[in-house]
Amino acid sequence: MTEHYDVIIVGSGAGGGTLAHALASSGKRVLLLERGDFLPREMDNWDPKSVFVDGKYISKDTWYDRDGKAFQPQVHYFVGGATKLYGAALYRLRPADFGELKHADGISPAWPLTYADFEPWYSAAERLYQVHGNAGEDPTEGPRSEPYPWPAVSHEPRLQQISDQLATGGYHPFHAPCGIMLNEAHRAASTCIRCTWCDGYPCLVHAKADAEIIAVRPLLEAPNVTLLTGAEVTKLETDDSGRAVTGVVVSRDGGREVYTGDIIAISAGAANSAKLLLNSATDAHPNGLANGSDQVGRNYMFHNCKAVAALSKEKNDTVYQKTLGINDFYLPTKDYEYPAGNIQMVGKSNAEAMRGEQPQLTWFAPEWGLTDTAKHSVDFWLTTEDLPVPENRVTTDKDGNVHLTYSPTNAEEAGRLYEELKKILNHTGMAAHHVFRKNFYMDMAIPIAGCAHQAGTCRFGTDPATSVLDTNCKAHELDNLYVIDTSFFPSIGAVNPALTAIANALRVGEHIRQRIAS
Ligand SMILES: Cc1cc2nc3c(=O)[nH]c(=O)nc-3n(C[C@H](O)[C@H](O)[C@H](O)COP(=O)(O)OP(=O)(O)OC[C@H]3O[C@@H](n4cnc5c(N)ncnc54)[C@H](O)[C@@H]3O)c2cc1C
Ligand code: SF4
Repeated sequence: MTEHYDVIIVGSGAGGGTLAHALASSGKRVLLLERGDFLPREMDNWDPKSVFVDGKYISKDTWYDRDGKAFQPQVHYFVGGATKLYGAALYRLRPADFGELKHADGISPAWPLTYADFEPWYSAAERLYQVHGNAGEDPTEGPRSEPYPWPAVSHEPRLQQISDQLATGGYHPFHAPCGIMLNEAHRAASTCIRCTWCDGYPCLVHAKADAEIIAVRPLLEAPNVTLLTGAEVTKLETDDSGRAVTGVVVSRDGGREVYTGDIIAISAGAANSAKLLLNSATDAHPNGLANGSDQVGRNYMFHNCKAVAALSKEKNDTVYQKTLGINDFYLPTKDYEYPAGNIQMVGKSNAEAMRGEQPQLTWFAPEWGLTDTAKHSVDFWLTTEDLPVPENRVTTDKDGNVHLTYSPTNAEEAGRLYEELKKILNHTGMAAHHVFRKNFYMDMAIPIAGCAHQAGTCRFGTDPATSVLDTNCKAHELDNLYVIDTSFFPSIGAVNPALTAIANALRVGEHIRQRIAS
């Protein structure tokens, strides 16, 4: 079967789903191919055992590490992609992230575009994904052309107390940007019920601003947009010259289908987009499609992250904990010459989730110990920038499977950020010796965050010798192929990547819209 579309988009997550949304009103025929299905609404959505212990929503994929050892990547194949499970912390990169930054382990390269180029698209992304925030509190944030579309999500009493104590200690705590549909002025009419099951869980009441709810679902009735679920794209075919994609090969319901389109935009996630290109080698592209530069799959980044629990005598009754951020160490300071990173909150600990996260602690601690720990903990997430290193890369084997080779960078900066957190906790009554790292799994060869914040396998740039995509995210070597997901990042900064992927999809969407209008 062959069907022709104006635009074919592969993957319906932050990049692909948003691109479909941006193109829908063009009236052009858009085909959205998604390998997963809709994520079911069921009580398990909010059950820590199902989500964290049983990994109910994690794909059954097998990837391989540098030694060829199989592992199950923490990836999520659903309409909406990884955003179905994300924490909806929707940060802009800081202006400095778009320039060159000197780090302990090397240079974070400059982007070919500036913060000013992205600013209008960040504003549009925040409007679309209903981001709640309060401009002007975080000294590292860039200039804005408009305020946040929604007021910041308020701190609950314990977090307000910590925020006040940090401010008294000379720090600059700010209200973190959150993509949840919470209307605090009219709670009775609010879609979001402000629960504790946000970070890492699907939203049972469809109140999280994820790519399915915000971008894809509103298109389901659009006559010019077709969504095919269970449609895994396995290969892109090209013409003899190798300049154009002529067929998108799909495995669906056990059969093979081929679709054609004037424009093909892949957005399968940084690892899977690289996989698709590498598995689409032809005579004209012997190292994989668009890979004359040998850059496809390289520079895989994901952040150097730590989850940390701080304990105090006081109980922490906070329900929705993700309201606070601290960027005092995001850029070099007078005491430290490198950028150490961002501190934010993670979802509130509970005994069940801690059991999933921390098998070693569970083994040592009986149930009551874990429950008590969870009740008194305040939970932080530390993010340090991870550098683009050519040797950190996705490759595929003869059967097309993903192999991920990765060594972390900037461990010194990550250690520094941890020390800074311990210092600032002295201002909050949570002494340094009551702080412990929650996630033993972070020490695994490819830790969970390795897939959650994946980026950088097809970086954009102006030089075809060192980049895969041009500044419109079109492959240098093909006339009709775009890559829209986080693959395009030349560096990853130290804030969560989704808003940048969304803003970029809107930016590239406008470019494609103009291109197909003629
Ligand atoms: C638990 C968790 C928490 C997170 N929290 C945050 C957060 O708070 N803030 C933030 O900014 N980011 C967060 N992230 C990261 C964020 O979700 C991702 O950066 C973002 O979704 C990436 O967008 P993408 O378009 O690149 O990929 P995805 O959103 O993953 O979309 C890729 C899509 O492609 C589909 N696909 C893959 N292969 C194929 C194929 N061959 N054929 C067809 N379809 C295919 C997948 O099923 C998926 O739907 C989190 C991620 C996770 C997992
Ligand atoms: S806090 Fe709101 S958006 Fe998040 S899971 Fe709960 S109801 Fe959904």
